[in-house]
Amino acid sequence: MNSRPPVRARRRQRLDGEPACRTADPALFFPPDSEGGESWESGRAKALCRACPVQGACLALAVRSGESHGIWGGTMPGERRRMWEKAERLGAVRPLVIRLLAGREVRVEVGDRDAVVYHLISGGWSVERVGKALGLGPAVVLEAYTRSRKVARLAVALGGEVRRTA
Ligand code: SF4
Repeated sequence: MNSRPPVRARRRQRLDGEPACRTADPALFFPPDSEGGESWESGRAKALCRACPVQGACLALAVRSGESHGIWGGTMPGERRRMWEKAERLGAVRPLVIRLLAGREVRVEVGDRDAVVYHLISGGWSVERVGKALGLGPAVVLEAYTRSRKVARLAVALGGEVRRTA
């Protein structure tokens, strides 16, 4: 017998608010391919999560507890691992950002780009100025900022305040 649905019910009780999955079939959130690609079940589960008023808290709880099964906060296990890694990069890139703010030339690796863009724009730099400093077009800068804001919200929800370097 699958023990995960009762675990899910206990988790929900720890969230303030009314989870959108309260009356949904728990099996939707544990699709057979939850480590792999999308399926009908995972698509349905993620749609419920997108409309859920406690999505942020649910995601933070799953990441904090290292939940390695199922869909939580609209994410699969692999997506949560990647978000956690990106949240860590937000803190790790601060020395690079400080050098950029000081007007020094800095080489920014692709893996650090989103985090650097986040700090510079949060610190008041325009999209154009960030693009010029990093050699990127405005659309790329905006996409990077949009991605990194989601990660920053997660980092704050986890209790690791993402300080603005600028
Ligand atoms: S975010 Fe998704 S898994 Fe979490 S409580 Fe809401 S509907 Fe349920």
